[in-house]
Amino acid sequence: MENCLFCKIIEGEIPSQKVYEDDEILAFKDINPKAKVHILVIPKKHIESLKEISVEDEKLIFKMHQVLNVIAKEQGLEDYNLVVNCGKGAGQEVMHLHFHLLGNP
Ligand code: 5GP
Ligand code: ZN
Repeated sequence: MENCLFCKIIEGEIPSQKVYEDDEILAFKDINPKAKVHILVIPKKHIESLKEISVEDEKLIFKMHQVLNVIAKEQGLEDYNLVVNCGKGAGQEVMHLHFHLLGNP
């Protein structure tokens, strides 16, 4: 998607500190961390927000949760917070679905 910051990060046009990548999902460190560990987990498919998911995204959304758990473990987090801002009115600034993984090991 043109003019989408996170699509540009996926394409490598904008650098990021990647912590996980497969054919469907990318995870990278948030540029302005709100906790010791603050990682953004995003689908490579451009979906604006959780409000726009469809049935065909079922496996992808589940896999994003599995990836969250893998990364949390790798980062030494026994427990973590998952924040998903859904829509501009809720504080979503980047209109490409992303899960905030937050925790303090
Ligand atoms: P939102 O407010 O949309 O839920 O969260 C967007 C997040 O993206 C914010 O936590 C912000 O710090 C992060 N962010 C914005 N621009 C960049 C960037 O260029 N690189 C990285 N790694 N994170 C970014
Ligand atoms: Zn995008």
